[in-house]
Amino acid sequence: MKKGDLKINKNYVYKIISVGSSNISILDEAINAEYTLERHIIDKHFIYGYARTVYSIQGKSIKENVIIHQINHGYATKKWLYVAMSRATDLNNIYIYKGKNELINEESIKTYFTKKIEGYVKQDLSKGRKIDKTRYITVDWLKENCIDKRCFHCKEILELKEITADRLDNNLAHHLNNCVPCCLTCNLKKIQY
Ligand SMILES: [Zn+2]
Repeated sequence: MKKGDLKINKNYVYKIISVGSSNISILDEAINAEYTLERHIIDKHFIYGYARTVYSIQGKSIKENVIIHQINHGYATKKWLYVAMSRATDLNNIYIYKGKNELINEESIKTYFTKKIEGYVKQDLSKGRKIDKTRYITVDWLKENCIDKRCFHCKEILELKEITADRLDNNLAHHLNNCVPCCLTCNLKKIQY
């Protein structure tokens, strides 16, 4: 963006140093240059840097406080959390936001498990396993037996994203009495045998 002598770079981070009623002053820390811009220009051309995704700051070190959000999200794995936490130069600077997480609610869990069960039905049918609908695994079974529960095999707490139902008797379908809660890692190991 160019306005008179003022030149603002694209894809660049500026630090807000003061906020007035109609102006906002920003600082280019690399060359220590300060610019005061009208708010409507800021609103039009800038995105406020409230937060960054974990992977976009991979490799960076942060000396200031780090607040980690969305740790309960279905896609937040241990590895993801490790990357987030290891950005901080001091463990004491890490804060975890434990407030309401909109992205994970009853509805999204139901959709996630329903799709999982649809996948199991397809799998069982393709392998020619006999399906008894009255005894088939349900969303409620997955909720009760897998959320915050341990893997039947390795005893690790199951992460939402890694929940699977493992069949004890490989010849039988995903029926309630044939399923145990299982983490993805253990389930994949079994397939290899
Ligand atoms: Zn396991």
